[in-house]
Amino acid sequence: MFSHNREEAEAKRIHAIFDLLKQQYPGAKTALHFANPFQLFVATVLSAQTTDEQVNRITAKLFPRADTPEKLARMKQAELEGYLKGCGLYRQKSRFLIEASRIILEKHGGNVPDTFEDLVALPGVGRKTANVVLSNAFNKPALAVDTHVFRVSRRLGLASGKKVEQVEEELKALLPPHEWGKVHHRLIAHGRRICKALKPQCGHCVLGPYCPSRHKTKSAQAKTKAP
Ligand code: SF4
Repeated sequence: MFSHNREEAEAKRIHAIFDLLKQQYPGAKTALHFANPFQLFVATVLSAQTTDEQVNRITAKLFPRADTPEKLARMKQAELEGYLKGCGLYRQKSRFLIEASRIILEKHGGNVPDTFEDLVALPGVGRKTANVVLSNAFNKPALAVDTHVFRVSRRLGLASGKKVEQVEEELKALLPPHEWGKVHHRLIAHGRRICKALKPQCGHCVLGPYCPSRHKTKSAQAKTKAP
């Protein structure tokens, strides 16, 4: 009986958190600019260790020159590096994008693949990038765990796993598939605006009453640093 009540209280707490996130960030979506799946693919690969604003500045110049796998596959690496210079790991990303474009042309008929397995088989594409592309470009149920999603969901007690894959599975188990992509964007928005890595703004956080890490900044930091 006691344990049943506890489970019920926990389910209500989690429900309240997701409801409040929905209210707070009703239109949360990717900040990356793109017009088709290939552009989103390129922007997502570039976004590792680079802000979305910086990626948008880079792609605003790159896409008029090369916005298809055909054009990108034909670019010389040195030229692409020139476009990507403002971006972390730009040499590696240039190589990955040219190689991935060739594979997209040769193996996928010039279309970005729309399955997790095919996406992670492309150079430079990890679990997070594949999930972002599936969710944002193809509207498929996928939940990408980035540094914000990892930190915020662990602070909120929505997940406890120490690995990205574990946190992804824990979050997915709490939500219907059609909510996975939206919750990804809402947790990112909350992490950027309120539940910041170094100084979470617990005093301004509507989730405070439901958050086990409220005002425990130091221990929250230690426990929630992304791997
Ligand atoms: S109460 Fe603090 S730790 Fe909890 S979600 Fe809000 S900002 Fe983050």
